[in-house]
Amino acid sequence: MSLPASDRTKKADNRTTMELGAVLPETAEVKDDHLFVGGVDMVDLAREQGTALYVIDEADLRHRMESYVSSFRSRYENSDVIYASKAFLNKEVARIANQEGLCLDVSGGGELACALAAGFPADRVFVHGNNKTPQELREAISAGVGRIVVDSRIELGRVSRIAGELGVTQDIYLRITPGVEADTHEYIKTGCEDSKFGFTMLDDFAFRCVEDALAAPNVRLAGLHCHIGSQVFALHSFREAADVMVSFMARIRDQYGCAIEELDLGGGLGIAYLADDAPSSIDEFAECTTTAVKESCEKYGLDLPRLLVEPGRSLVANAGITLYTVGILKTLPNIRKYVAVDGGMSDNIRTALYHADYEPTIANKAGQARTEIVTLCGKHCESGDAVVIDMPLQTPELGDIVAVFGTGAYCYSMSSNYNGQPRPAIVFVRDGQARVTTRRETYEDLYARDL
Ligand SMILES: *Cc1c(COP(=O)(O)O)cnc(C)c1O
Repeated sequence: MSLPASDRTKKADNRTTMELGAVLPETAEVKDDHLFVGGVDMVDLAREQGTALYVIDEADLRHRMESYVSSFRSRYENSDVIYASKAFLNKEVARIANQEGLCLDVSGGGELACALAAGFPADRVFVHGNNKTPQELREAISAGVGRIVVDSRIELGRVSRIAGELGVTQDIYLRITPGVEADTHEYIKTGCEDSKFGFTMLDDFAFRCVEDALAAPNVRLAGLHCHIGSQVFALHSFREAADVMVSFMARIRDQYGCAIEELDLGGGLGIAYLADDAPSSIDEFAECTTTAVKESCEKYGLDLPRLLVEPGRSLVANAGITLYTVGILKTLPNIRKYVAVDGGMSDNIRTALYHADYEPTIANKAGQARTEIVTLCGKHCESGDAVVIDMPLQTPELGDIVAVFGTGAYCYSMSSNYNGQPRPAIVFVRDGQARVTTRRETYEDLYARDL
């Protein structure tokens, strides 16, 4: 896919870096025209570590984790926050999630292996996926994971059989598709009926499968799960989903005489990718979902279940930035100004995939106004390879260090080696210190598995 035609009427916003609002990581500051994050000069860091480079503001990440846990627990005592690790996972983020008292959701054997290698307690791990392989299920059950979120009737049989072979009873959830349309980008909408995920409520299929789950040996139906989509701005979607799920639990009680003890409402809270985006806060999300669950439980006469949420993007996206070096400038009069950086779709596929938006700044001109409109293209052999399409930037020059905000989620975890590009290093910054938590890939890494 190529780039969308440039909007020639778009005007530069003349903002300086500190005017970019909620896209900035918490500790972002500008000193002597340089961008600092975590007290570290991003220009120096780029020179020391090379670019492209992922940088995580550790204080920002930890504060969002604390804020999630306290926003929920203060309103709803029996609640837990599960970090959806597919948004961004390395060992260090798993350790931090553990230290901050979160649970962890993994979507396959690889993420589980990373979590366990980081010392994450298996009993606080939740396993997702619409087609976990029998091998992955065996690994998860052997490791003693807390919950397996069963996605289909076929998988229910598999989990039950494997748990039996291993001589254990596995706690499970059933993932239900509540048919709620989340107000978000169509590609990442998962709660509506046409979905590969979960048990559909159409024709009462999900309800009939609850009977199978209750009857299956070697599993215990501990709860229900739903996830209505990602980058959701409209909080009412969560309220509607909560009501559908609680009424479903009431029907289970009435028909099967069984109390469902846990309700996992998934993730999906939207974040600011653009300076003018105004997503709901973590606190507002907690207020909305906890109130909805309490009201629905009251309405259907149910005891309050243990409540869980599974944020990914809203924990890490704004804590992360990507640094690049400008290598080529190319102006096509009346068409577009290209600024080529030393990364692209290999470290951030979201822009090429669905024209995602990001705010850029020049880290060594961070105090200056963004007076031009540019497209930051990558170095890959695809016309659609861009990180930022038609956004304001300070006047770019060769060798400038560009920082792109809001790249903490779904960039590293979706990265590739396209064109033989080694993956960037990941550096955590905090209190003036920079710590490499994942080293840059080497050329040798690229062919280390070739025989
Ligand atoms: C992706 C995903 C999440 C996290 O979604 P975010 O939009 O990143 O908060 C949570 N739960 C499940 C099942 C998911 O697939």
